[in-house]
Amino acid sequence: MKEIPVLFKDKKECCGCTACYSVCPVKAIKMEADSEGFEYPIINKDKCIKCHRCIKVCSFKKVNYNIFSNKKINKD
Ligand code: SF4
Ligand code: SF4
Repeated sequence: MKEIPVLFKDKKECCGCTACYSVCPVKAIKMEADSEGFEYPIINKDKCIKCHRCIKVCSFKKVNYNIFSNKKINKD
């Protein structure tokens, strides 16, 4: 069984683009401002159906991982 996804472990893994927020079919994600006013997505665990669309849509992570791992992850 799939787990509730972790959208980012560190703020550098998220640019606040809202793509995950937009794609969530059950509106389980809300954008919440941090102390500096930058908005980051927060998953409501009670609403989440663990479809993982939010993780798949996150292009920012693919770019980051490519830089740090030096591997081509996005094969499209
Ligand atoms: S799609 Fe990725 S980069 Fe964009 S807000 Fe969601 S977690 Fe952050
Ligand atoms: S796993 Fe699916 S339901 Fe849960 S937050 Fe992501 S897109 Fe929404």
